[in-house]
Order: sequence, then C-alpha cells, then structure tokens
Amino acid sequence: MFYPERCTVCGECLMRCPYLNYPEEKAKEEFSKLMKGEATPVTRECITCAACNMFCPEGANPFDLINDRQEAEDAFKPTEQALAMMNMASELPSEIIKGDPDKPFMNLCSVGDLLPGVIEGRLFEGLNLTKGGDYFCYIGWLHIGKPSMVRDNAQRFVDNLAKTGAREIICYHDDCYTMLTSKVKEFGIDLPFKPIHIVEYLRDYVRDHISEVTRLDMKVGYQQPCASRYTFEKDPIIDELFDLIGVTRVDRKYDRVNALCCSGAMAGKSGVHKDTINEWRMKNIMDAKEAGAEAMVFLCPLCALSLRNRARAQGLEPYMISNLVRLALGEELSNGGAGKIYG
Ligand code: SF4
Ligand code: SF4
Repeated sequence: MFYPERCTVCGECLMRCPYLNYPEEKAKEEFSKLMKGEATPVTRECITCAACNMFCPEGANPFDLINDRQEAEDAFKPTEQALAMMNMASELPSEIIKGDPDKPFMNLCSVGDLLPGVIEGRLFEGLNLTKGGDYFCYIGWLHIGKPSMVRDNAQRFVDNLAKTGAREIICYHDDCYTMLTSKVKEFGIDLPFKPIHIVEYLRDYVRDHISEVTRLDMKVGYQQPCASRYTFEKDPIIDELFDLIGVTRVDRKYDRVNALCCSGAMAGKSGVHKDTINEWRMKNIMDAKEAGAEAMVFLCPLCALSLRNRARAQGLEPYMISNLVRLALGEELSNGGAGKIYG
C-alpha cells in the first residue's frame, strides 16, 4: 500500500531505479504526476521489480502506487505468454498430499512442479503438501501490472490453506510468504495459521541436525526474488543458513537492497527486445562471477528458470537453496542443483 502522507517527493525512488535511473528533477516531476494521477512514462517503463519500495527513505511504498497506476491506465502490457502463465497458475489441478500427521504442512503454490527433482530428499519426506491452483497466491500478478488480482484473491487463498487445519504452513514460494505476511495485513485479513518461510524451516532443520552437516566451503551469488522486497526482515535468516552450511554469500553490487529482478518480469512485458532482457540477465550473472561466486543460488523456482542456463554457461552451478542444504547433509542431487535441465 502506498502511503502518500509519508512521501516528500524527494525523487529517490526513480533516481535509484536501475531500469529508469531518472535524474533528480525528472524523478521529482514524474513522481509528483504519479501522485496526482496524471499521465507519466513511469507506468510504461517500470518493469515491476518492487525495488523502489526499499529505496524510499520514508517507507512510502512507491512501487505500490506505480503498480496501481499501471493497472488503472492499462499501461503495463504483458506478453500473451506471461498472461497465459498467470491464468494457468490458478487453473492447475489442486492436491493435498498427505504425509506424516506429526509433520508440518508445506504449500508448494503453483510452482512445486516447475523444477522436477527439487522437492526430494529428507527435507521434504513426510511433509503434508498442498499444491495447485487452489493454493496459488496470486502475487505474480503484480509483475504484470494487475495488483487487483492479488487483492481480490487473497481471502480465497487464505481460506483454502486454512481448510487444511494446519496451525503452521511452510511457504516454499517466496511470493506466498509475502501474501501471508505483508499483503494480508494491508487487506485486513486475519490468519488462522502461522506462515513459516522455507528459509526458516531450512535454518531450523540444519540447526537441529548440525552434527550431520559437512560444511560446503562454497562462494555463491544469491538471487533475491522481487517478492522479498516486502519481507526483507528474513534476510538475516538466509545469512545464518549459509553460515551454518559453510556457504559465503559474495558481496556483490546486485544483492540485498540493490538486487536485480531475475528479468522474468521484463521478459513478461510486451515490446522489450530479447537482447535487452539478455543484457540484464548477464549483468546480474557477471556481477556474481566477478565478485568471486562459483555457484548461483535461487530461492524462487521462477528465478532459477530465468537464470540457471546462463549461470551454468558462465561456470556458476545453479542451486535451489534447499538443494544446497541437501548437499551439506550429504545427499546426492541426482537431478542437478536447480532441477533437471541438462538433457
Ligand atoms: S515515494 Fe519515497 S522515494 Fe519516492 S518520492 Fe516519495 S518519499 Fe521520495
Ligand atoms: S518497481 Fe523497479 S522498475 Fe519499477 S520504478 Fe520501482 S525500481 Fe524501477
């Protein structure tokens, strides 16, 4: 939610935006137009990475205003493929896979089957799993300029998860955690269960099995998902998890506050040339490589799909974060670090 009363029209959001990068006067002018509901190129140029919500020194959430204006003006034109993917996410067959009654529930959203071979091993054994359209969180619609879809479907998502009767639900998808922590508050929805982020689950699992961990002694570039902009308070948990398994998160330009989108959002926007998309993907990967990373780590399976091939071509082995933990626990990753991709 945008907080107009907090905004000082300083222009910082549009000046620091890596994609728009406006000079100060233009930034102030265009943001002022946004606030007044006047036409501005911002709504067409913004790729929806949500980074400016973190750049704003006043906590005003400028992206939320930009996103609302994008929808009101129909300014963000998604590609047919991106729109079809969003619609398909809510139509996927839904399933509750019963596990051990004493073990927790994990929601795989609509992305659990995207990377075959990733939901495997002792970390997932016996968990009760939910997946499919009924358990899709809709946060992806922010990326195609339709935030009303998130608002309109939030209660249904919460109700479907609540029907499991679980007191705690682990979110495999970073987007779901954003919906269940940040967005539900905005929409005034009460939760009858506690959402747990997968990194918290992984960190606690590693803490409880620390004697079985072999430190990996690996330097990695971390790809922060855009949804993490809403839940940045969990970032220290990622650092702690890496530390416990002997992984160093290289200090690079495009991480934490300055992280780049995986470019999936840009790829879903009509009219962006594929060379431009590739350029941003390569900037991101080369930044990790030049900072000394030997692997690229993903929290979101969609980020992995967007970057894993190019990362590997640059000698950076791609891993989902859960697979790094499996590696540290001595498990063999028979389907590769980020799903089966190499033929
Ligand atoms: S939203 Fe924040 S960063 Fe942007 S102009 Fe307002 S105060 Fe400045
Ligand atoms: S959401 Fe991202 S692309 Fe859009 S204005 Fe903010 S920082 Fe720039």
